[in-house]
Amino acid sequence: MRMILLGAPGSGKGTQGEKLVAHYGIPKISTGDALRAAVAAGTELGKQAKATMDAGGLVANEIVIGIVEERLGQDDARKGFILDGFPRNTAQAQVLDDMLKRLGQPAVDKAVHLAVDDEEIIKRLLDRAQKEGRADDKEDVIRKRIEVYNAETHPLLDYYRAQGKVMTVDGVGSLDDIFNRIIKALG
Ligand code: ADP
Repeated sequence: MRMILLGAPGSGKGTQGEKLVAHYGIPKISTGDALRAAVAAGTELGKQAKATMDAGGLVANEIVIGIVEERLGQDDARKGFILDGFPRNTAQAQVLDDMLKRLGQPAVDKAVHLAVDDEEIIKRLLDRAQKEGRADDKEDVIRKRIEVYNAETHPLLDYYRAQGKVMTVDGVGSLDDIFNRIIKALG
C-alpha cells in the first residue's frame, strides 16, 4: 500500500497515520516530524526551515523533497509507505510521481482525504497548543496554515482525483470510528 494522507492541519493525519502504520506494517513518512526533529537537533536544514515553520509558511520544496527522497530510498519503504504532510503543493506531487519511477517503485495507490471543517480545525489546534505547545500552534499562525492549506494543498485533491485515487473520509468522530472509515474506504 502506497498512501498519501491529505487534509488540513489538525485533521488527524498524524494520529490516523500511526494507526495505519500498525495496521499495514509499513512506515509513515512525516515531513513535519522530520523538520521538527531537524529544528530540535539544530542542524543546518533545521536552521533554514525554522522561521518559515514558525510563520506557518511552506518550507522550500528542495528541502522537503530531499527528506522524502532519502526516506523512500530506505529498504523498509520498498513494500509500501504512508506519506503525512507531503506532497503539499502540485510541484511536490509531480516530483513524487517522478521520484517513485526513478526509484523503480510503483505509483501511489490512494490519497486519503480527511475532511474536517475549518471551525473544528481551529478548535483542535488551539486545544493542541495548550497541551503540546508546538511553536506554530498560535491563533494567527493557525489561520495562516489553514490559508496556505486551502491555497496550496487543497488543489492536490484535483490532482489525485484526475488519477482516480482520492477517498474522502469524514474526519470528525472517535479515533476508532475514523480509522474504521479509512480501512473501509481503502477496501
Ligand atoms: P500541520 O499540522 O500544520 O499539517 P505538519 O506537522 O505537517 O503540520 O508541518 C508543520 C510545518 O512544517 C508546516 O507548516 C510547514 O512549514 C512545514 N512542512 C511540513 N511538510 C512540508 C512540505 N511538504 N512542504 C513544505 N513545508 C512543509
